Amino acid sequence: MAVDNITDLLEGYSKAIYSTWFYYAPDRFLLDAGEGAASRLENRAFAIRRILLSHGHLDHISGLPTLLHVRSAGKGDNEKPLEIYYPAGDAYVMGLMAHLGRTIQRTSYELSWIPLEDGAVVPLTPDDETHHRHARRLETFATMHTRGRLTLGYRVMEERHRLKPEFAGKPESELREAAGNFGSQALSESYSHSLLAYTGDCIASPVDQFLDTDVLFHEATFMDEADREAQVHSTLDEAVQAAVDARAGNLVLYHVSSRYPKPVMRSHILEVLDARGYDPAHTWLVYEWRWERMENP
Ligand SMILES: [Zn+2]
Repeated sequence: MAVDNITDLLEGYSKAIYSTWFYYAPDRFLLDAGEGAASRLENRAFAIRRILLSHGHLDHISGLPTLLHVRSAGKGDNEKPLEIYYPAGDAYVMGLMAHLGRTIQRTSYELSWIPLEDGAVVPLTPDDETHHRHARRLETFATMHTRGRLTLGYRVMEERHRLKPEFAGKPESELREAAGNFGSQALSESYSHSLLAYTGDCIASPVDQFLDTDVLFHEATFMDEADREAQVHSTLDEAVQAAVDARAGNLVLYHVSSRYPKPVMRSHILEVLDARGYDPAHTWLVYEWRWERMENP
């Protein structure tokens, strides 16, 4: 699927260490919840049905207290349930959950904290208010970020149908005849397509977890390998290579370190895209509030 303009589907903020969060409007979920999410989204905070936390580092969860508070105290649909998903056993998330349980004693809405393991599946249809033609689900995959702790990536999968390979390209009359003989069900097969994949903070991306995804979110903390000290974050080069290897339709780079001046980021990115053979018209940089396409199509 071609995604013409990612900013029609998504908004958010990202800067390494400070804050990272993205709101995905089609399925009304928040990917991570760094500070500023509630104050930026304002009334749209009430639209959020799910919050998907990749891990419990502060820059990915610090927006939760305000968000949970606004959903009760602000003017909007205060009764809409909210589900917060997080990597099972994440001590930082569980610490914040306990703190919020004490300080926000009652929410006007049903609030659930749901621990997820690697390989979990969460259906997005049919009970969602957003109406999809095809059934969608969320799936988790393990990422490598902090040693010894489970950290999660998320992908949105859509169930689709296509002609079985033996029927592809056959003339209409032949297909009609086959459908008459065996039923139209016999002609098609279902398959899963990845609409979006979010890798949180990671190093060594599990590329097989998001093959052919329409939109790959990949962190790119370091523009230059020489700047990386601990092996917990990716370089720009690794992010672009992951998009190439996964045949991702679009790449969103985020979680970039603020040590790089803006023009330096841009020239580095264009250089690496050129070297790795990935299309700048399908590459976006999210830095602070700004979503910048690397080249106009
Ligand atoms: Zn982190």
